[in-house]
Amino acid sequence: MTHGRGPGGYGSRFYLSEEEKANKPRVTPELLRRIFSYFKPYSVRLALLLLTIGATSFLTLFPSILTGKIIDEGLMEHNLQALIKYILLSLGVMLASNLTGVAQSYINTWIAQHITYDMRNQMYAHLQKMSQRFFTSNHQGDIITRMTSDIDGVRQMVSTNLTSILSDLVTVIISLIAMFQKNWILALIGIVIVPLFTIPTRRAGQTRWKYAHESQACNDEINSILNETLSVSGQLLSKLFCREKYEYERYKETNSRMIRLNIREGMAGRWFRVVLSTFTSIGPMLIYLVSGMLMIVYKAELTIGDVTVLVALLGRMYAPVNSLLNTHVDWMRSMALFTRIFEYFDIPVEIENAPDALTPARAEGNVVFQHVGFGYEKDRPVLKDVSFELKAGHSIAIVGPSGSGKSTLVNLIPRLYDVNEGSVTFDGIDVRRLDLSFLRGQVGVVSQETYLFNGTIRQNLLYARPDATEEQMITALKKANIWDYVCKQPEGLDAVVGNRGLKLSGGEKQRLSIARVLLKDPTIFIFDEATSALDSISEQKIQEAIDPIIQSRTSILIAHRLSTILAADEILVLQDGRIAERGSHRELIARGGVYRELYDTQFSRALLPEGEADSAPAGSQAAAD
Ligand code: ATP
Repeated sequence: MTHGRGPGGYGSRFYLSEEEKANKPRVTPELLRRIFSYFKPYSVRLALLLLTIGATSFLTLFPSILTGKIIDEGLMEHNLQALIKYILLSLGVMLASNLTGVAQSYINTWIAQHITYDMRNQMYAHLQKMSQRFFTSNHQGDIITRMTSDIDGVRQMVSTNLTSILSDLVTVIISLIAMFQKNWILALIGIVIVPLFTIPTRRAGQTRWKYAHESQACNDEINSILNETLSVSGQLLSKLFCREKYEYERYKETNSRMIRLNIREGMAGRWFRVVLSTFTSIGPMLIYLVSGMLMIVYKAELTIGDVTVLVALLGRMYAPVNSLLNTHVDWMRSMALFTRIFEYFDIPVEIENAPDALTPARAEGNVVFQHVGFGYEKDRPVLKDVSFELKAGHSIAIVGPSGSGKSTLVNLIPRLYDVNEGSVTFDGIDVRRLDLSFLRGQVGVVSQETYLFNGTIRQNLLYARPDATEEQMITALKKANIWDYVCKQPEGLDAVVGNRGLKLSGGEKQRLSIARVLLKDPTIFIFDEATSALDSISEQKIQEAIDPIIQSRTSILIAHRLSTILAADEILVLQDGRIAERGSHRELIARGGVYRELYDTQFSRALLPEGEADSAPAGSQAAAD
């Protein structure tokens, strides 16, 4: 929504845009109950806030009431003592109202901040529970907006709107009571007049706001014409197609439309002030007229002080009544904000611990896929009837064309997603029945996209195991073939890796993330080999780091290089989400199917270290034997 440049002063706060009108939230008792639940923990402070608001509004009005006494008892009766007494009392009351005002602001800010604090924490915890699917299908910007702007909107609403509604109400009620006490006829006139002069103000403001909006749209149109036609390619296009005259006319027409709107907007503003001042002066005049008639014709017991107080109170009621008449706008906006936030809270947690989740005492690392079917979206299966077994201590290499579902398959083991059909078991137990922390604690993943935090090497390692000793870290770094690099850094383990590890090369990042996983010491090791080319030295270093892991640990390797494939005990070939072939390198080569094809096109050439490509088939056969 564009508020435009003009309408702010006339209370964009007071009018709902077309978009807001179209998307009015549905206010249900359930929604209100939910909103109230956030205020509940602070009920004592809320009561205190009400008290201070009441006190401040009352004390602010009191000097107006005392004016009557100053006039009647001080000035009219020439009583200096009474005059000084009431003046001092007025000053004292004003000071007191300022002090309660400070207390009111403090309590108010405190409550607003604490409600948003609770909401932010709750939202963060909820988002943490969201599945991978949620993060891949939602814009990061949207998620952050809910966390920041929307919740901040709630804070503003609590701290500003809530207080202003309450204080406006108190002001109006106290003013009315005071007016009725003075004279009921004049009070009734007040009740009739106030809405009379607030309604035209409202209409005038609305008109001005409408024009401002239209002229803003016109301005956007002008900007887009300028952007289109005065750009290098735009002006070339208009020249070559002889459209200069047409473009000029288009610009002139929009420009003149904007000028007409600006004039109307300016005049609406002027009329607005005329209407405002006329109506605000009609009020006091009416009071003077009626009180004069009451005093002169009916000899009513009214004093000059009473009339002054009535006029002052009437003047004080104008702003609160106007603001209360517009409360529904604030109300709608707040409800819309809460609805947006609650929508996020209501997204079900897709992957969570089963109520009776199991935490086995020991983990061996046997993984079995039984007729697994999975798709990110309905009716678009990515994995189809996948069955295989990974025995503890063994390793499997998964190969297949890009997009065949290799990464998807391994994501099912730590339950980043749940299967749609079939099951994945870990040590004979369905992963959906295992405690999530236990399960994820058993799986170590080195993914294609290594993610390092902007911190030191030490901090990145400790993320995997907060209680790791320096020795354990060094051992992991050595095993991952990155210790030499760390030693070369002047700060050693405390060298900063840069934002997302940008200060490291691709190979160094991979090895550091291998070290991180080694430190975690999982039961199953998953290595999703990067497809992006690394130089042969980097590749060799990574190979040296993972070879011992493949040989000694239960591991699954998504492999793109022959050397990695050959190190595994079994090869699964995925194609279109199905296991097309399985077996040893030798068997698969002999079969002459998909694997052979992949081998001929990829592994034997591009992805083998230089010099080995040509001799690969023979050498690898030997290795496979
Ligand atoms: P590569 O070797 O290129 O990494 P892959 O074999 O690992 O490919 P996957 O990443 O498992 O393939 O993807 C399998 C299919 O699922 C692809 O068609 C891909 O577009 C789709 N896919 C992957 N991730 C998502 C996701 N988060 N949401 C929707 N579809 C996805």
